[in-house]
Amino acid sequence: MPLVDPRTFLLVANLLGMLCALVLWVQAKSFPDDIEGLRDWSLAVVLIGFASGLASLRGIVHDGFSIVAASGLLLLGQLLLIIGLQRYSGRTPVWRPTLDVIGAILVLIAWLTFGTHHYQGRIFIMALAHIGFFGYGALLAWRAEPRGFGGRFLAVAFLLGAAVALWRLATLSMAGGQPDEAFDRNLIQQIYLGMFSLGVLGLSIGFILLANERLRVELEFMATRDPMTGALNRRAFFARAAIEWARRERAQRPLAVITSDIDFFKKVNDTHGHHVGDLVIKDFARRASAMLRVPDILARFGGEEFVILLPDTDHANACQVAERIRREIETQRDKTLPKFTVSLGVAVTAGQAGQAADIEALIAEADAALYRAKQGGRNRVEA
Ligand code: GH3
Ligand code: MG
Ligand code: MG
Repeated sequence: MPLVDPRTFLLVANLLGMLCALVLWVQAKSFPDDIEGLRDWSLAVVLIGFASGLASLRGIVHDGFSIVAASGLLLLGQLLLIIGLQRYSGRTPVWRPTLDVIGAILVLIAWLTFGTHHYQGRIFIMALAHIGFFGYGALLAWRAEPRGFGGRFLAVAFLLGAAVALWRLATLSMAGGQPDEAFDRNLIQQIYLGMFSLGVLGLSIGFILLANERLRVELEFMATRDPMTGALNRRAFFARAAIEWARRERAQRPLAVITSDIDFFKKVNDTHGHHVGDLVIKDFARRASAMLRVPDILARFGGEEFVILLPDTDHANACQVAERIRREIETQRDKTLPKFTVSLGVAVTAGQAGQAADIEALIAEADAALYRAKQGGRNRVEA
């Protein structure tokens, strides 16, 4: 007497899978549109659940349903898992060649079922298809962004699916000499189906985790970035600056701030329009940040005013960075934009006491230098 009736087990596992499909579907409706693939995953889980349900009715309904239709639903569901992952990763989904292969497999399955009654050939082909889908799914999941627990979990769930299919191949050859398929069908096939349903449950949990991580990353980006330029916003700047300030005090390292303001920017707006003004601001942010190292941060404080924080940077190096930015900006790289220049102010606190009291005071010092740069004729660096 088995502990749990296999059919009950299948039913429970499939019901749980359907609940996950519901969660995925709700996420698809409520998450930002750029997180794609959730609808495909939700539909995939439903298809695979139906397939597993049909397969468990073997002997009760006609083989055309419990074998051929179930196999078709299963393969389509697996294809949808892949399609969803492709959409999630921003790729254009590829349907065609795989759909043809699935059609061919189904014809073969029908022939092995009703023509030659070759039970093992059927299992063999299906297991191969599962290994293909799950292996590819594991690869896509491993590469999915953001690389975190969700993607790893999903990749492992796919790999386990592939391992189960491999195990099915192995047990198939073991049962090779068995003339009676009844034993194999009742026990191994039931275990196989059960593992499958559990696997689908694991996969849908993986998809839910992955999509949640993507959502968190997007929300975090929106909360900390200026949408136009992608530079940090004022709030995120001060959060990072507080950390760098504390580190500076502890390690007695210098910390530099550069403030910048595009010259005669009102004229750009007036002569070329606000839209071109926006493009100039974006162009500045892109080229200025290309001049920085990884630990440096660029923040947009207002209109065409940016502040740069340079940890571990002394006076000479900070002036060098500012001068590099000034020279880069004065060179016209994009011929569709008007030529423009920038003025920069530099302030450094050198690790010893008696310097700027806090980050605001340091920024005020840099601002005073920037004012002198404007007074002195613009397109220059003052410290
Ligand atoms: P100065 O050389 O003294 O800096 O002269 P300026 O003309 O650049 O003067 P200021 O820095 O005061 O000019 C800021 C202008 O930037 C005023 C405002 O209309 C414009 N502005 C602020 N935010 C934006 C924005 O997001 N897009 C665009 N296109 N213009 C903006
Ligand atoms: Mg300004
Ligand atoms: Mg200006």
